[in-house]
Amino acid sequence: MDVISLCSALIKCKSITPADDGAQGLIAQFLAAAGFEITELTFRSPDGANEIKNLFAQYGASGGKSLGFLGHSDVVPAGESWESDPFSPLQKDGYLVGRGVSDMKGGIAAFCCAAAQFVREKFDGSICFLITGDEEVGSREGAQSLLKWCSDAGRLPRDFIIGEPASHSKLGDNVYLGHRGSLNVVVESIGLQGHSAYPANFKNSLAAVCQYVAHMLNYQWKYEDLRFPCTHLEPTLLFTNNYATNVVPDRTSANLNIRFGADYSSRTIEEVMTTEARGYGLTLDFHRSGEPFYCDPKELKGIFAACIKDVVKVTPKFSAAGGTSDGRFIPSTCNIIEFGLLDDCLHQKNEKAKLDDIRNLEKIYLEFLKRY
Ligand SMILES: [Zn+2]
Repeated sequence: MDVISLCSALIKCKSITPADDGAQGLIAQFLAAAGFEITELTFRSPDGANEIKNLFAQYGASGGKSLGFLGHSDVVPAGESWESDPFSPLQKDGYLVGRGVSDMKGGIAAFCCAAAQFVREKFDGSICFLITGDEEVGSREGAQSLLKWCSDAGRLPRDFIIGEPASHSKLGDNVYLGHRGSLNVVVESIGLQGHSAYPANFKNSLAAVCQYVAHMLNYQWKYEDLRFPCTHLEPTLLFTNNYATNVVPDRTSANLNIRFGADYSSRTIEEVMTTEARGYGLTLDFHRSGEPFYCDPKELKGIFAACIKDVVKVTPKFSAAGGTSDGRFIPSTCNIIEFGLLDDCLHQKNEKAKLDDIRNLEKIYLEFLKRY
C-alpha cells in the first residue's frame, strides 16, 4: 500500500476523540505485515468513564540505537460546511482533502511507509511506533499513559520523532525542538448588580475583569531566554450574566491563555498573575496544560537538516514556537525532533495537504532512517 492509499484509508476512519473507528487496527495491520511486533494497549481514566486505544509497535531489539515515532490517530470534529465529506478522502488539484490529513494521519502514513521500506535492510537498533488516541483532548489515557508504560517496560526509545505538522509555508521550512508552556486562567469577579446610572449603588464585575485583563495585556513579561518567543497572554472568552443596556452585571468571568518560554514555569506565571490581580477583587483559577521544554539534539538536527535539503531543497529553521505537543510528556533524558506536514489548515474545514508533500515527507523520513 502506498502512502496516499494508507493516508486515505486512515481518513475514512472517523476517529474523533475518544473514538478510534478502526484507525489503529489499520496501522497495526500495516506494520505487522512489515514485521513489527504489535502491542495494543487500552488505558482507562481513573473514574472508568474514558477508554482510549493506543498502539505500540516495535521492530528490532531494545538497547543500542532506538528511535520512536510518536503520533496520534485521533482527530478533532469536522465542523460544518465542508465542500466535501470530511471522512471521504478526496484528491483534487494536487491535494488530498479530509479531516486529519495534516494533523496527523499524513505524518503517520509517511512514517509507516518509510519504516516498512527501511526495515527490509539489515540495521542495528530498534524502531518503535507510539500511536495514541486522545492527543486532541489532553493525552492522559494516551501519551502520558503510553510513555509511562514504555518506561516501566524498559522500552522507552532514546530518540523521538513527533510527526505533527510543523512546516509553515513550505514542507521542511520549520522543525520544532521544543514548545512553550501553556497555562489557562479563569478570572472571575462577583460584584453587585444595579442600574448603570447609579454608580454609588453597584459594583461592576465586568469593569473589574476588563481592567485586569487590560492591565495583563500590557504587562511587560521578562524575556531573556531567546530560544522561545516572548511570553504571550491572550483572552479567549468573556462571559457576563447581563444583556440589558442599563444593568450592571454582578457576575463576570474571562478565560485567559498564556504561552511562556523557559523564563517562567506554570508556578511563576501563577505568582505574577496573582500579584498583579491585587486590588481588583477577583478570584483566579489556574489550569496547567504544560511546562516549556527544549532539547538540542545536535546529531539528529544535522541529519534532519541534510535530509530535508536533499529531498525538498529547503533549509529548515529550528524553533520552539507553535502550540504544545505530546513532546511535553517525553522524559527530558530523550531527544526530540518534531517535523511533519504544513500547519496552515489545522482543525479547519476542508483540511488538506499536497499529495507531493505527503510523498516527500515519506522520502525525508526514509532518508533520515538510513542516515540515523
Ligand atoms: Zn496533532
